[in-house]
Amino acid sequence: MPPPVFRFAPSPNGYLHLGHAYSALLNFDLARASDGRLLLRIEDIDRARCRPDYEQAIYQDLAWLGIRWEPEVRRQSDHFALYRAAVEQLAAQGLIYPAFESRAEIARQVAARQVAGPWPHDPDGAPLYPGAGKQLDPDERDRLIGSGAPYALRLDMTAARALAGDLFWDERGHGPDSETGMVSARPEAWGDVVIARKETPTSYHLSVVIDDALQGVTEVVRGADLFWSTSVHRLLQTLLGLPAPVYRHHPLLRDGEGRKLSKSSGATGLRALRAAGVGSEDVRKMIGLATPA
Ligand code: GLU
Repeated sequence: MPPPVFRFAPSPNGYLHLGHAYSALLNFDLARASDGRLLLRIEDIDRARCRPDYEQAIYQDLAWLGIRWEPEVRRQSDHFALYRAAVEQLAAQGLIYPAFESRAEIARQVAARQVAGPWPHDPDGAPLYPGAGKQLDPDERDRLIGSGAPYALRLDMTAARALAGDLFWDERGHGPDSETGMVSARPEAWGDVVIARKETPTSYHLSVVIDDALQGVTEVVRGADLFWSTSVHRLLQTLLGLPAPVYRHHPLLRDGEGRKLSKSSGATGLRALRAAGVGSEDVRKMIGLATPA
C-alpha cells in the first residue's frame, strides 16, 4: 500500500492563528502516525488579497510549531493554465455559462424575489444565484463578452447534478451537525456556484479538487466550516474524472465569546504568540492536541 498523503492548504491572505495551528498539527500528527506524507499547498488564487510576506510567515509559523512538510510546495497561482483547461472541460460538457451581474445586482434580484417569499441561501448563508445569466440570449451573451464586461463562469447545477447522479463521500470526522460515515452530497444546496471569473480563471472549489488529485492527496483534513463544500468538490471530481480522497473535518476553535477565530484576531495569532515567548508545546496545550509519543 502506498503511504497516505495529507496536505495543509492555507491561503496567504493574513497571518495564521491558533485555528490554523490546530489544523496543521492534526495533519502532521495523522501523517506521522500512519507513516504518511504531509504536503503544503499555498492557496493564493486571490491575487488582490494574498501577499508574499504572509506566505513567508506561513513557513516560519509552521516551522516554529515543529511541523515538517515535503520540500516541494505547490503554489496555486503557478497553475492558472491548468485550471483554465478544467474550465474548458466543463464548458465542453455544456455545464458552464457566463453571468454578468455584479454582486449588488444579484442582491437587488434576490431582494425583488424575496417579496414573494423566502429565497434559498447556501450553507455559508449567501443567497443562491437567481439564474438570469442562464437564460441570456446567446447574441446578447456574445455582445457582452465582446464589450469586455466582467463576468463569472457559473456551473449549471441542475445539468451537472443530472449528469453526475447521486454522490457520497467518506467522512472520517464530523460535520457541523455530527454527520459522519458515508455522507450524501448535496451540491444543489449551493445553486449555480462560481467556477471561475473573467479575471481569475478558477475558484476555490475548482482548484482544490484539481490540486488534491494532482498531488495524490488521499486524506483531506480541514475545518468543519468546509464540510458542506465537500458536496461541490465531489460533484467536480466526478465531472472531471478525478479520484475522491477521504475527508476528516475537525471542529473549529472558538474564542472566549464562542466566535470563530479569524485572521484579524490578534491575540490568537501565531506570530504574536511567538513574539510573546510562547513555545510550540504551549500551543499544543492551548489547542488541546497532545504531543504524540
Ligand atoms: N485554503 C483554505 C483555507 O485557508 C483551505 C482549503 C481546504 O483545506 O480545502 O481556508
